[in-house]
Amino acid sequence: MADVQTPAALEITDLVKRYPTGTEALKGVSLEIGAGEFFGLLGPNGAGKSTLIHCTTGLASPTSGGIRVFGHDAIDNYSDARLAVGLAPQDLNLDHFLTLEETLDFHGGYFGMRKKDRRERTAELLEAFSLSGKRHDRTRTLSGGMKRRLILARALMHRPRLLILDEPTAGVDVELRLELWHYVQRINAEGTTILLTTHYLEEAEQLCDRIAFINGGELVASGSSAELAARYGVAGLEDAYLELVGRKELSRGLVA
Ligand code: ADP
Repeated sequence: MADVQTPAALEITDLVKRYPTGTEALKGVSLEIGAGEFFGLLGPNGAGKSTLIHCTTGLASPTSGGIRVFGHDAIDNYSDARLAVGLAPQDLNLDHFLTLEETLDFHGGYFGMRKKDRRERTAELLEAFSLSGKRHDRTRTLSGGMKRRLILARALMHRPRLLILDEPTAGVDVELRLELWHYVQRINAEGTTILLTTHYLEEAEQLCDRIAFINGGELVASGSSAELAARYGVAGLEDAYLELVGRKELSRGLVA
């Protein structure tokens, strides 16, 4: 639950992002995620989800508007804001020539962690993600599931208070999806705020306290899964989503 004593984990105000091509990917998005929340961001391809994440993590600069991460201005005070954020990107962007230990250690170094702390945190995370036995192996030798776990461990290395998961379960098998759900639920229960983007509605329903729908660069609705369904006058999150994207004829309720 959100803690009123601490600043919001993420506070986005009137965020506009216009790419040099002229595409307005975000058209004045405002969004607040409380400390400790598990928050889902849903929307069709091209809605603006990645742009929002890139602006929050400093990979893209907003055209206008504000972003604060735990009270730190992500535009004017970028480094403090960035330290508070861990990003597990959708693509498996590991350096294939590094060992697992090096992967985590280099990331920690990049975030200014001391050697002793890096060593301890690396061991702790490899253990938590059942990767200790592989610590001296190069990442290219890992299975897809192990790579996903390592990417999650890397995102957590510098102990971010806000973890951003960008489609963490895209294209993974059922066992790994459920395994990743267990990990992220535990991380959230231990106090880390989570922002998740996913195309799997049952995943959002299962994990998220609150969900926002984004479409065409605009935040259209937000609330719990039940609140979103009620808002659209439908039975569940999937039907609410179909209303959002204007495809209610696809509702499973209509499949006789
Ligand atoms: P999503 O992550 O929801 O699929 P994106 O944020 O990737 O959406 O894209 C939002 C819009 O911005 C799309 O129209 C996309 O084509 C456009 N876009 C994304 N990145 C760039 C870029 N680097 N340059 C120009 N247009 C972009």
